[in-house]
Amino acid sequence: MPLSRSDPMLPQCWTVRSISKETPNTFTLALESTGGGDTAFQPGQFSMLWVFGVGELPISISGDPGNAGSLTYTVRSVGHATHALVSRRPGDAVGVRGPFGVGWPVEGAKGRDILLVAGGIGLAPLRPVIYHVQRHIDWYGKLIVLYGARSPRDVLFRRELTAWARHPGTQVLSTVDYGGVGWRGRAGVVTSLFKFLRLRPTQTTAMVCGPEIMMRFVSRELLARGLAAEDLYLSIERNMKCAVGFCGHCQWGPHFICKDGPVFPYRRIAQLLDRYEL
Ligand SMILES: Cc1cc2nc3c(=O)[nH]c(=O)nc-3n(C[C@H](O)[C@H](O)[C@H](O)COP(=O)(O)OP(=O)(O)OC[C@H]3O[C@@H](n4cnc5c(N)ncnc54)[C@H](O)[C@@H]3O)c2cc1C
Repeated sequence: MPLSRSDPMLPQCWTVRSISKETPNTFTLALESTGGGDTAFQPGQFSMLWVFGVGELPISISGDPGNAGSLTYTVRSVGHATHALVSRRPGDAVGVRGPFGVGWPVEGAKGRDILLVAGGIGLAPLRPVIYHVQRHIDWYGKLIVLYGARSPRDVLFRRELTAWARHPGTQVLSTVDYGGVGWRGRAGVVTSLFKFLRLRPTQTTAMVCGPEIMMRFVSRELLARGLAAEDLYLSIERNMKCAVGFCGHCQWGPHFICKDGPVFPYRRIAQLLDRYEL
C-alpha cells in the first residue's frame, strides 16, 4: 500500500525554529512545518520525533495549544536519541508523526478547580493545560500548580512559573528535593506542598505527571483528602514504537499507552499502578 500524507506511520519533515536551554540537560525546541503540517493538538498529547539516522522517540507537546504556527517540545537528554534531539540546531530537520494519544480532560473539567501536580520533566506535558486554563480562566475555578524538581538547577520554566503565579485565580507553589547551601526556596518532595493546599475536593479535577513513584504518593494523598478517583488523572510513560496501537510495545495490562493514554483516569489504572515493574 502506498504511504499517503495522512498515514500515521509516515513522518513529515519539520524544521527546528529555535532551541533554548531550560536546565543543564533539558532543552525546549520549537519546530515549524516545512509542508503545511498541522499544529493543532490537545494538551497532554505527544508526537513521535524522528532524529534522522539516530531514531524515533515519543515526546509530549509542551507549547501553547492556542499558538498556531509551531509545535514546542521540552526534552531531557537521558540517552542516545534525546541527546541527538537536543543537539539539533535552528534550520535542522526533524521528522514528526502525530499528535497521538488521549490528553488531559480540559473540556470535562470546565467549571471546576484545576489542580496540577508535576514532578521534574512532568511539568512539560502539563504546560499546555496552564496556557489553556489561563487563557480561558472564566471557564474554570481556581488553577493550582504544585511543582517539585530535584534541585534548584533542575527547575523548568523558571520565569514562567513566576509569571503564571501573577495571573488572577492562579496559585503556583514549587519545591526542590535538595536545596543546597544558600537556597532560600522550599525544600522537600512535592507532597510536602500539600500542607499549603486548600483543596475543594468535590469541585476539583487533578492532573498529575511525574515519576511513577511520585504519582503513587500524590494519588494516595489526594484520595485521602477526599478527591474522587474519577476526578484524578495521571500521565503514564512506557517505551513505545508505532504510537498507534499496532505493535504492542507499550501494552500495559489491557491498555495500549499510546492510544488509550498516555493520560488515564486513576480509576481505570489503579490496580496496575500498584503492581511495580509492570
Ligand atoms: C508518551 C510519552 C511522552 C514523553 N514525553 C517526554 C517529554 O516531553 N520530554 C522528555 O524529555 N521525555 C519524554 N518522554 C520520554 C522519552 O521518550 C525518553 O526519555 C526517550 O525515549 C529516551 O530515549 P533515549 O534514546 O534518549 O534514551 P535510552 O538510551 O533509550 O534510555 C536512557 C535512559 O532513560 C530510560 N528511559 C527510556 N525511555 C523512557 C521512558 N519512556 N520513560 C522513562 N524512562 C525511559 C531508560 O531506561 C534509560 O535508563 C516521553 C515518553 C512517552 C512514552
